[in-house]
Amino acid sequence: MIKSLLDFLFENTCKYCGKAFSPQEQGYLCPSCLSSIEKHEFFEDLPEIPSVDGYEFFTKYEGVARELILLYKFHSVKPFSKVIAEKIREDFSNFVNEVNPDIVTYVPVHFFRWWTRGYDHNEEVMKHLNLPYRKILKRVRYSRPLARYKKEEREKRLRSAYKVVESCKVAGKSVLVYDDILTTGSTAREVAQTLKNAGATEVYFYFFLKES
Ligand SMILES: [Zn+2]
Repeated sequence: MIKSLLDFLFENTCKYCGKAFSPQEQGYLCPSCLSSIEKHEFFEDLPEIPSVDGYEFFTKYEGVARELILLYKFHSVKPFSKVIAEKIREDFSNFVNEVNPDIVTYVPVHFFRWWTRGYDHNEEVMKHLNLPYRKILKRVRYSRPLARYKKEEREKRLRSAYKVVESCKVAGKSVLVYDDILTTGSTAREVAQTLKNAGATEVYFYFFLKES
């Protein structure tokens, strides 16, 4: 009786497959769904993003990975930052070794978003990667989530949206930037242009997910 009551209290239903499971760090996605998120096997050439010298991504924006990022970003399920970091750690560090950047950083959220969400979702992932990184960018223009806008409108809303933090010298440096999702490439392009205007020599990106 007590055991089934405890099971009832402490078992959760997976938001993806609907099976019951005992939550460890989060009660939204079950371990077997999470373990199904694997590095993509992608053999085609990646489409170019203007001002970006190269990029890599972990997997596609679909299935469990999509559910995970939606829960993480829009329902503030913070423990997923660690899950994402554990997934991408090896692949991310391989990419770091490959491009050998002077600075590793991430695409930050605007202060207002940080304040309503309680954290910066990309920075939380960086913290769990246990790699040296620096905050060199600042989002200076606020915008509603861009998903609802078409490409031209996104680009308009992103214009001058980022700034290099003044004390950060990026002139002559190569930079690797982490972002969670590659959609149209508008954000990556704007960030890369901002960094290059500040003198960065090369800009690379790593994304957790890529929309196809
Ligand atoms: Zn599941």
